[in-house]
This record gives sequence, structure tokens and C-alpha cells, in this order.
Amino acid sequence: MAHQDGRREPPFSLTADFLRKYDVPGPRYTSYPPAPHFRTGWSESDILALFERSNGIGDRNLSFYVHIPFCPKQCLFCGCTTEIGKPGSAVTGYFESLHREMDRVLPLLDASRPVTQIHFGGGTPNAAPIKHLAEVVRRLLQGRPLAGHAEIAIECDPNLITPRKLEEIRAAGFNRISFGLQDFQKATLDAVNRGFPRIEPADLVAQSHSLGFTGVNLDLIYGLPHQTPQTFSDTVRKTIEAAPDRVATFSYAHVPWAKEHQKALEAKGLPDAESKIAMTVAAYEGFSAAGYVPIGMDHFARPDDELAVALATGNLHRNFQGYCSKRTTGQVVSFGASAISQLHEGYVQNVKESSKYTLATDAGTLPVERAYVLTRQERFTRQVINSIMCQGRLELDRIGTDEGLQERETRDLLAAGIERLDGFRQDGLCEFDGTTLQVTTAGRLAVRNIAFLFDPLLGTGEGRYSQTV
Ligand code: SF4
Repeated sequence: MAHQDGRREPPFSLTADFLRKYDVPGPRYTSYPPAPHFRTGWSESDILALFERSNGIGDRNLSFYVHIPFCPKQCLFCGCTTEIGKPGSAVTGYFESLHREMDRVLPLLDASRPVTQIHFGGGTPNAAPIKHLAEVVRRLLQGRPLAGHAEIAIECDPNLITPRKLEEIRAAGFNRISFGLQDFQKATLDAVNRGFPRIEPADLVAQSHSLGFTGVNLDLIYGLPHQTPQTFSDTVRKTIEAAPDRVATFSYAHVPWAKEHQKALEAKGLPDAESKIAMTVAAYEGFSAAGYVPIGMDHFARPDDELAVALATGNLHRNFQGYCSKRTTGQVVSFGASAISQLHEGYVQNVKESSKYTLATDAGTLPVERAYVLTRQERFTRQVINSIMCQGRLELDRIGTDEGLQERETRDLLAAGIERLDGFRQDGLCEFDGTTLQVTTAGRLAVRNIAFLFDPLLGTGEGRYSQTV
């Protein structure tokens, strides 16, 4: 990896010992503070004022997120907020609710702000009629400038994709696509109630490219029944052959106390912790050897992909949709059940159940459940954590300037974290010269552990977190 000052590091070889040492539970920092800190009790005028003030404070770019919380069937590994097997009338009703929510929020957003991103997540957005998605895109863009490099992205279940459907999605204006492939092994896909794509993954990627999609992504999950380090190495090899632009490899999080359907996987046999560690190593080594650039903890991108370029040029960013580039993200305004808006000043989260969401929008009220407004010090900490997570770098003489902090104040606020860096330096995860903290290639695999040092809220708040590695 090359540092921003041009120095190069030797390649890093991931080992099981490294993973055993640094694999501890903690936030993934898709927001700071993380969602378990959000609180109830906000008035509608508080929330409306937050959206309105986003016009004058923070990034002008607008990034829209739309949550479609429906799936035709239950994947047994699923940890998402979704509802299974809803009839078409419920889905149509949900889109009417989305439009009602947009009617309340969109007029608050300055029409001159450029839209740099629209992202549909779920659930299974591609299970909904594409004409409904296209109408939402049209409404979001009505009277607003679309940035030339804007991405309009959709998360898809590849089992529901046919060549015709792919064309329909592209014709609706989408230019980024992500497929939840999960694995190539049929025994695993059967065990988790997920089918094999109708189109072979390599053809799916090739057809997406030929239609003009860029940043084509395949998601994989490891830690599922019938997976072994050997089968997962085989899946990594086949994924590389399919040649996506990006790959995300997620470690399966078994949380049956929160997701009861996951209990069914216990009877089918889940790989033990050592096997999962070997699968993590297989993914890292396999994708790195094939020329993919590791982006953060569990993402890989081809060197010419926007994410890899953003990493190399210090323009990587992170939000609830994961890693993104600074030029495509902005303040995120979200619509739909469970959706979270990420504004400069704070966060707004909608109610999770679609029935409550519809009831609230029918009544003409905002479907908001929780929110959070950051203090000046928390905004500073957010910047510190983003800088470590995305740039792998923290410059003590610059990081406080956005919040008007002098270098001395910045050093005082970061002193406790800096003091605890020694173990990480000795393990070769970072370097610190008194002014700049630089995360090394090895450190990027444990970047959350380094970020923990600077998080005063760590260990507080509700909820359990996933492992770091
Ligand atoms: S398609 Fe995705 S969101 Fe739906 S049940 Fe499966 S994993 Fe969960």
C-alpha cells in the first residue's frame, strides 16, 4: 500500500493469529455515535428543523436512501429489517406511504442542492415493481440538479433477476448494482433457503457491464452451514472468475435472540470460530492475490474502481450504506420504514415496522422513532473516527479545524487515545510521529480497534455489536 506521502509498505500476509488477537465486538462506525445511542422523545418540529438546517450547515450534496422492507421468502441467515411474503397490495400501499413521506420532507431541502447518490436497499428492492422504483427516482430528482457523476444504486437478490429485468432496472436510470450472491455452493444456499441465481454469476456481471452498470458488486457471506475453508476458497476463486468490480465478504452474525429464524441454522451445523478465521484469511489472500484492493475491513475493489481510487486519493467516506467516495456521498436523507437520515448535525431514524410507518404517514405525521443531535465534541470525534476508518490517517494539526479547535485543544481531546497506541505500534498496525497517526496495511484489517481508542462512548449505550474482523 502507498501512503499519501508516497512511501510504500511491503505486502501484508493475514494470519489466523492476527485475527484471533483483534477479533473483538465493537461498533462498525457506519455512523458516529452508532445507532444504539439514538433516543426517542423528539417533536415533529425538532425533526423538520434538522432537515431544514441541513441546507446551511455541512455538505451541500444530497444523498437519498430508500428502504424497501419486503422479501418474497426468508433467508435463514438474514439480519436485516424486512417483512416476508407481503401481498402486492401491501407493497403498492407502502410506495404510497413513501410518497407521502417525501411530500413532507423534500420541500424542506433547498432545490439547488445537487443530488449525488440515490440508493435503494432492503429487503429486496428488485422484488418490487420496477416502475414503482422509477417513480420514486423521478420524484426525488424533480426540480433538482443531478450531479454528472451521481450514482443511482440498487441492492438485488440475483434469484429474481432475468436478462429482461436487468434491462428494466437499467432503463429506470440505475447505474450501480449489487447482487447478494452469498456463496457458489448449492448445499449452503439450500440450507439457508436461498436459491442459486437464474443467470450464472459470471454472466450476471458481464450482462450488467454490457448494459452500462459500473461498480458491479457481489456480496458473499461466510460462516454458514456446509461451508469449510476449502469450499469458501473455491467460492472466492469462482467470484474472481466472475470478475465483479467490487466484492463484500460478510462474516455471518449469529444473533438468534434478535432474529429467531436463525435458530434453524443451528440444527444444520455452523462452522466453528477457527474455520471462520480460515475463511477470512482465504478471502483476504485470494482477492489480494487476484489484484483486488482491500477497502477497510471486508470490502475489496478492482484498482480502477471508484472505491479503490477514493482510497488511494484520500477520498473514501463511510455511511450507513458502507464505504463510498466523498464525491458521491453528501448529507443522507432517507425514506421508508427503519431508514436513517445522516445529517451534519445529527441522525433521524424511522419506525421499523411497515404497518406503523404506513399508519404514521396516513395520519400526515413524520414516521420518526428516534433521533440524535451531536454536540460539537461528538462532531469532532466523528471526524476523528472517519479519518481513521476511511483515510487511515489522523493529522493532529488539522483534524480540529472544522470545529474551530486549536491544535492544543485537539491534542488534549485525543491524548487518552494517543497514550494507548503503543501496543498497536509494536504490532506494526500504525505509526505515529507526534503529529500524524498513519494506519499501516496490516492496521487496515484492525482499523476499528484503532478507532475504539478515540471513542469516549465505547462501552456505553444499548445493544450488542458484531466482532471487529
Ligand atoms: S433477501 Fe436479503 S433482506 Fe430478504 S430475507 Fe434474504 S437476506 Fe434478508
